[in-house]
Amino acid sequence: MQKQLPLHVYKFGGASTKDAAALRNLVQIVRQHGRKGPLLIVVSAMGKTTNALEEIFQLAYTRQAYDSPLASLETFHRTVAQELSSGFGLHTAADIKQKFDETFQELGQYLAAVGPSQEYDKQYDQIVSFGELLSSLFISLVLNDTQPTQWLDCRPLLRTDDCWREGRIDWALTESSLRAAVLPMLQGTSVVVTQGFLGGTANGQTTTLGREGSDYTAAIFAYCLRAEAVTIWKDVAGLLNADPKFFADTVRYPEISYQETIEMAYYGASVIHPKTIKPLAVRRIPLFVKSFLDPAAEGTRIGDCQHGLLAPAFIRKDGQCLISFESKDLTFISEENLEVIFGVLAQVRLKINMMQNSAISFSVCTDFSPYRLDRLLEQLRDQFTIRYNSNLELYTIKNYDHASIRRLTEGRELLLEQRTRQTLQFVCRNMETGQ
Ligand code: ASP
Ligand code: MG
Repeated sequence: MQKQLPLHVYKFGGASTKDAAALRNLVQIVRQHGRKGPLLIVVSAMGKTTNALEEIFQLAYTRQAYDSPLASLETFHRTVAQELSSGFGLHTAADIKQKFDETFQELGQYLAAVGPSQEYDKQYDQIVSFGELLSSLFISLVLNDTQPTQWLDCRPLLRTDDCWREGRIDWALTESSLRAAVLPMLQGTSVVVTQGFLGGTANGQTTTLGREGSDYTAAIFAYCLRAEAVTIWKDVAGLLNADPKFFADTVRYPEISYQETIEMAYYGASVIHPKTIKPLAVRRIPLFVKSFLDPAAEGTRIGDCQHGLLAPAFIRKDGQCLISFESKDLTFISEENLEVIFGVLAQVRLKINMMQNSAISFSVCTDFSPYRLDRLLEQLRDQFTIRYNSNLELYTIKNYDHASIRRLTEGRELLLEQRTRQTLQFVCRNMETGQ
């Protein structure tokens, strides 16, 4: 095999594929990468497709009509294709139509088989994965209209266990199969488009890697193929100290270490999926976060670096639930009780975002999921008195100072609070006042 030029991995999220104008912009960005070397492109589902598929799945699972949201999803995809089609060469529009026909037909068949069973999470993966299948098929054909582009189905290669909705990677197997399949495809200067967020089990069933997991996919490919760099294209100027949707006066970090970024992602900074950084750090692959609205701008470089004190980072996590457990006989919350509670939390897969213990009660803050909470209550309500509040927010200030604490806590009733040397966290009600 001839020597490879350095491989670059690009990841495009839903915002960069949300309509025809966004896709034209994506084509430009890919074209500008030009002859710098082979490019592997990981795409998320287009626009808000994953949310739409979750809603459709929920209706199908509870045996309610889903025709109307399904028709809207199909219309959305076909309209974007239609709007782009005037610029296409001879066969592209027909090829896209054929792929959409086949894929929506397949989705319809899968949906018809969905229904109430114990396998909620498994069925979810089989349906919600269609977002990335559609976007990757579509975008590969759009790119192929002007430069040779190949579509790659990552599911047989990116091997996970059957932990549905949160597939865990079999790294050894994934590395060898990805290298064997993808390196020959990248010979010369070539473009390969694949799905973010998806994987597959040993017996060929589709898994997903957790919401917003396409960043993680980009890191998995980069790690396995020993890429030179990864770029995540976003609608913000880089890695910021806060989400501009919720906070005014944000600051961009021009350069930031893997370590700092992992911590921010862990606390819920939505700019990067928390699992993304580790594989890149292990192979020292830099990660660039850049704006697709201004591709020439500097963005952020995440890598091995030393930096001084960073501006405080503000992280808000919505949709939180605070659950408190009290022992019924007023005995202490002991290690034995905690073991039972942790066991059930793990079993129903409710993740703890923050926790606190007192003499007779134990509180955890988790993402709100009525389905998982019901399972938890079923198992623990005989043993504990359980109370919960939903519609809460969890705030984290990393590298806090007095001004940043005042800015965030003023006027808020804190339901739970915790502070370490660098990090302050608190849970409060959703006030929808912005900040
Ligand atoms: N489409 C998936 C989601 O919306 C994965 C991703 O966007 O990264 O969660
Ligand atoms: Mg996303």
